[in-house]
Amino acid sequence: MLLLDWPITEKPTGQVALVGAGPGDPELITRKAWRLLEAADVVVYDALVSDELMAELATNTRRIYVGKRKGQHSMPQQAICQLLVDLARQGLQVVRLKGGDPLIFGRLTEEITALDQAGIGWQIIPGITAAAGCAAQCGFSLTERGKAPRLRLITAHSCDDRPINWADLAHQDETLVFYMGLSMAATISAKLQHHGLPGDWPVLLVERGTHHNQRQLRCTLADMHTRIVSEQFKSPTLIYVGQVVAEVASSQQQQMPLKQIC
Ligand code: SAH
Repeated sequence: MLLLDWPITEKPTGQVALVGAGPGDPELITRKAWRLLEAADVVVYDALVSDELMAELATNTRRIYVGKRKGQHSMPQQAICQLLVDLARQGLQVVRLKGGDPLIFGRLTEEITALDQAGIGWQIIPGITAAAGCAAQCGFSLTERGKAPRLRLITAHSCDDRPINWADLAHQDETLVFYMGLSMAATISAKLQHHGLPGDWPVLLVERGTHHNQRQLRCTLADMHTRIVSEQFKSPTLIYVGQVVAEVASSQQQQMPLKQIC
């Protein structure tokens, strides 16, 4: 039997671009990321991606939200991996859009592995990670000659629960940036002091950095936990520890809307 419709109608497999959306301000995204977003059939995105950025997508681009919703859990990682595979197998150009930089605490490896196992092509487009975006918005450098020649990005949470080597983190010439650190604030404060950092060591909290409603609070290692509770800091918040934030001022709200500053 002559199969007239084979292989002509066989759908080519789609591809997946794992793309960094940046920390919040929709302009903090690379041109390459935006080009892929414009070409995408479907965008699979999570909670850290800003509403403003999503609003700029073409109206006919399909959106699938896989982040946390109020009172509900986010979609399990395995289900997200399967979703990416299924969409690509339908021949779609898929953008997996992640907050900040997908290479940093982005569970990228699980998704790449699933795509590889399914034989689906992928590429990674890096983004501006929250540590860089928030520091830029607050006006300080993450490293500083003489003061802080090293920078560490630390997740306070990890799936495999590897213990943190606190003694190894308590150095006065480093900048520490804790991601997902709010619920661990008391431990961060106690452990770093225990291992030798002074109680008045500078700490900066930045909530919803680069978003229009960013707020930042300068406090100390000793009082950071109390301040987080009393000022009701919520996720997403970054905790910076180190001399580079010593001169940064607190502000409840951005002084000026972001667009006016530029
Ligand atoms: N891949 C992301 C990080 C994901 S982990 C990146 O590169 O930025 C999620 C954590 O990142 C949050 O709990 C918070 O600690 C931090 N974070 C992400 N966006 C943030 C923002 N706009 N302001 C402050 N912290 C942010």
